[in-house]
Amino acid sequence: MSAPQSANDQAFARAKASIPGGVNSPVRAYGSVGGTPRFLVKALGSSVWDTEGREYVDLVASWGPAILGHAHPAVVEAVQKAAAEGLSFGASTPGETELAEIVRERVSFGDQRPIGKLRLVSTGTEATMTAIRLARGYTGRDLLVKFAGHYHGHSDSLLAEAGSGVATLALPGSAGITAETAAQTLVLPYNDLDAVRRAFDEHSERIAGVIVEAAAANMGVLAPDRGFNRALASITKQNGALLIVDEVLTGFRVGRAGWWGLEASRVVPDGAGWEPDLITFGKVIGGGMPLAALGGRAEIMDFLAPLGPVYQAGTLSGNPVAVAAGIATLRLADPAVYSRLDEVADLIARETSSALTAEGVAHTVQRAGNLFSFAFSESAPRNYDDVRSQQTWRYPAFFHAMLDAGVNLPPSVFEAWFVTAAHDDRAISRIVDALPAAARAAAT
Ligand code: PLP
Repeated sequence: MSAPQSANDQAFARAKASIPGGVNSPVRAYGSVGGTPRFLVKALGSSVWDTEGREYVDLVASWGPAILGHAHPAVVEAVQKAAAEGLSFGASTPGETELAEIVRERVSFGDQRPIGKLRLVSTGTEATMTAIRLARGYTGRDLLVKFAGHYHGHSDSLLAEAGSGVATLALPGSAGITAETAAQTLVLPYNDLDAVRRAFDEHSERIAGVIVEAAAANMGVLAPDRGFNRALASITKQNGALLIVDEVLTGFRVGRAGWWGLEASRVVPDGAGWEPDLITFGKVIGGGMPLAALGGRAEIMDFLAPLGPVYQAGTLSGNPVAVAAGIATLRLADPAVYSRLDEVADLIARETSSALTAEGVAHTVQRAGNLFSFAFSESAPRNYDDVRSQQTWRYPAFFHAMLDAGVNLPPSVFEAWFVTAAHDDRAISRIVDALPAAARAAAT
C-alpha cells in the first residue's frame, strides 16, 4: 500500500495538472534536490509556513528581497495604505520620483554619483533586457559580453551559459533562442581579464557593452577578484563600450549602496575609483513586490523613450503599491539592519562550515558581503567551470536533512543563502541545531 499523500504532495499533484512542472519558476520544482516542493501559505519575520502548517526558518527570503524579514509591519502598512488609494493608475505618481531620488542618493560615495537617472520596471529581467538594448542603442554596436555562470534574467540575449535555474538544470542555454541572437552574446570566463582584453582586441568596434553581476551569486556565491570590476570599467571605457553592473541581487542587500558601494567605500579592498555606466536593480528595491529598475549616466538614460530612440514601456511600470513597498523598505534599511545582516551571515556561515568540517566534508565558504554559499570542493572556485566541478551530489542530502529539521534552504547548490535582519537567536539556534545531522548526511 502506498503512503497517504501529504497536503504538499496533493498541492504539487494538483499544480502539475494546470501549471507546467507545477511551478512558475523552474528552481521551485526541487529538480536538483528531489522530493516534493513545499507549498507555502505564510511568511512572517524569519519563518515561512507550508500547507501542512509546518514552520521553517527561511534562508531563501524570497530569493533576496526580504532583508527586513517577511511582511515587516511597516512595509505591510505602506502597502495597505497605497492599495486602498488605488492598485494601478497607468500614470505617473509622486512616489516614483521619491523612489528614484532615494536610489540616486543612496547609490553614491563622496562625489561619485553613478545614478543620474532611474527608470522603474517590474522585474530584474526587464531591467537587464532594457539595459542591453540601451547599450546597443547608445553605442550603435551589436555585440554583448557576459560571463559564464552569471544570471541576468531570462531575456534571449542573456540566457547563454547562465547561472541560477539554468545552472541547476545543467542547460547550456535555452531552446527557442535564435542562432543569430545567441551569436551576438560573447560568453567569457569570470575573473579572466585576459579573455576580456582578447574579446576587445578582436571585436573592439562591435562590442556595445559588458554586463556583469556586481558580485556573482547565481552559481553559488563567487566574489570578483580584487580590482576585477574596476578593470572592466577601464577596459570598456577605453573601447567606447558601456559597463552594465547588475545589482538586481546585490543591490541594497549587501549594503546601503549595493556591491558598488562596498567597493567605492573600500569595504571591499582594491575596488574604489570606478563607476558603472548603467546599474540594474531588483528584489530589495521592491520590498517583496514586483519592482525593478535601471539607472545610470543621465546622457545614456536620456536615450530611452520618450526623450530618445530606445523604446521601453510597461503597463505596471512604477506600480504604486510596489513603489510604496520599495520606499518603506529602503527607508527602514539603515546601518543597523546591514550590520545585523552581516552578523547573522557570519554566524550561520561559520557554524555551517564547522559542522561540515567536523564530518570531514571538503568545502569552501563562498562570501560576497552578507551573501554566502558553500562549494563542495577542496579549493575556492574562481569561475563557472570550477563551480560545476564540485561534488554537487552532496547537496540534496544536506538540503533535505535541513528541511526535515525545519530549515528552508535554496533548493540548489548553485544559489546563495539569504539572511534577514529578522533572524533572531531562536531562528539561529534552530539552524545551528539542524547542522550536525545535515553535515553527516552530506558526508555519506
Ligand atoms: N539579475 C540577477 C543578478 C538576478 O539574480 C536575477 C534574478 O535572480 C535577475 C537579474 C532577474 O530578475 P527577475 O527574476 O526579477 O526577473
